[in-house]
Amino acid sequence: MLNIIICGAPGCGKGTQSDLIVEKYKLKHLSTGDLLRKEIANKSELGQVAESFISKGNLVPDEMIINILAKNIEAFGNDINGIILDGFPRTLAQAEVLETMMSKNSKEINVLVDLSVKKEELIDRLLKRGQTSGRSDDNMETITKRLEVYEKQTAPVSKFYQNLDKYAAINGMGSIDEIFGRISTVLDSKL
Ligand code: ADP
Repeated sequence: MLNIIICGAPGCGKGTQSDLIVEKYKLKHLSTGDLLRKEIANKSELGQVAESFISKGNLVPDEMIINILAKNIEAFGNDINGIILDGFPRTLAQAEVLETMMSKNSKEINVLVDLSVKKEELIDRLLKRGQTSGRSDDNMETITKRLEVYEKQTAPVSKFYQNLDKYAAINGMGSIDEIFGRISTVLDSKL
């Protein structure tokens, strides 16, 4: 089984690379951002609460996201090649819960892939995406806040996996194929 986390600042290309990874390694994809946006689109109670955090560039509360994650991981069952977590864990508390959950099920995270992209490029990509995405968080004010939140709350998750020796930094600048090539080299070494 290959269980991986893909992580990086907003706009780093996690979603694009996740799709390629899913196709090549036949993994189940779990994007907490996508799950939350589905809830928002369905106008569920959870979606409405989530939207109030997301539109300001803040993270939604840990408890809320952990419930969503646990439900979705269980739904995958055991007969799978592995999972790619995209957008989770985003705080140290989430990482700790994830590690407990995995070890309870005798599973483990093999590696965290950390995509790094220059700040100017991130802002550029997110503003461009905002022109067509319809996302309430792809505007300059919210982008600035999301980048700050990332540095403060999510960057420590990378350190956590570095300390477990399950960490790979990937240069996220270049063409989609180039970046995917770099990621594949790391993942092939974990098979
Ligand atoms: P991006 O990586 O472009 O910021 P995502 O689609 O992963 O976008 O997430 C969008 C928003 O959803 C985040 O800014 C955050 O508010 C919320 N969110 C997603 N995943 C989590 C999480 N694991 N914990 C808390 N909030 C989350």
